[in-house]
Amino acid sequence: MSKTSVKKKKSSLDYPLLARKLIEASGDAGASKLPAGLYVVATPIGHTGDISLRALVTLASADIVACEDTRISGALLSRYGFKKRLISYHDHNADERRPEILKHIEDGEAVALISDAGMPLIADPGYRLVRACREGGYDVTVIPGANAALTALAGSGLPTDEFHFAGFLPPKTRARQKNIGGLKNVPSTLVFYEAPQRLADTLRDLADILGNEREAAVARELTKLFEETRRGTLQELAVFYGANAPKGEIVVIVGPAAVDVAPAHDLDAILKNYLRTMSVRDAVSAACAVTGLKKSEVYTRALWLAGKNSG
Ligand code: SAM
Repeated sequence: MSKTSVKKKKSSLDYPLLARKLIEASGDAGASKLPAGLYVVATPIGHTGDISLRALVTLASADIVACEDTRISGALLSRYGFKKRLISYHDHNADERRPEILKHIEDGEAVALISDAGMPLIADPGYRLVRACREGGYDVTVIPGANAALTALAGSGLPTDEFHFAGFLPPKTRARQKNIGGLKNVPSTLVFYEAPQRLADTLRDLADILGNEREAAVARELTKLFEETRRGTLQELAVFYGANAPKGEIVVIVGPAAVDVAPAHDLDAILKNYLRTMSVRDAVSAACAVTGLKKSEVYTRALWLAGKNSG
């Protein structure tokens, strides 16, 4: 098992001053009116510096900021020197708030949607609001930025070409195990969000169901002072976190299931079947497609079988 942690110093940058200068330098003094619409704005997942210039300009110019928790977002905005009109939009009031937000847009206002951290809509509210805007013919602009799943994936050292974001697993054991069972044969890297108090149980279930030897990583407190990524097999990580209760925010990454390669005798049967009607070249291509094996691995066997058959 290996661990990388990043030693960081607390930033002494004057973010309100920087935000003001950046907005001025962008030629958009923050006072210009944004066209009416919904602006989905990503905010940092920890480090105050992880916000885009476009996000700052948009937040400075928006008429209203819709957010999950007005205290958390008020504090976040004040880190950049912004004081905005905030309205809460979260899972428990979304249905009643949505028409109100649409009315603001209808009346010509620019509404920014942010979440407590990172990219709104990703394990956060907003999907139905974006859908309602699309259906109502209102403009939707997304200002991209930090996201914990992608940050963890990019730093995990596990394959990134294909991944499945599974969000939070259910907290109840049976539902969680059933959910993990459904992911057993997904041939991609798996990405989960998890709470620290459930990490050990989740890793145990992942190891039991997906296999002790699957490679995995636990990324904690990304972009923050005590950022750390620990890599190992699911078994190693389950044992480690079973003995060491973690703190902070966590992403779990699990490497893809090993490709099921056909055992040699299956390969022979598959090739023999194709060789009845196909050339060696075509039989090799077809066998590669169904077994996932490389051409170089299949070709010699096919030649041998073809020679044996013709003799
Ligand atoms: N919308 C956010 C995003 O774009 O990543 C995710 C919001 S979700 C409600 C919160 C979860 O994201 C946390 O419980 C944790 O699993 C993960 N998370 C957020 N910030 C993180 C960080 N700095 N380090 C590790 N995980 C983080």
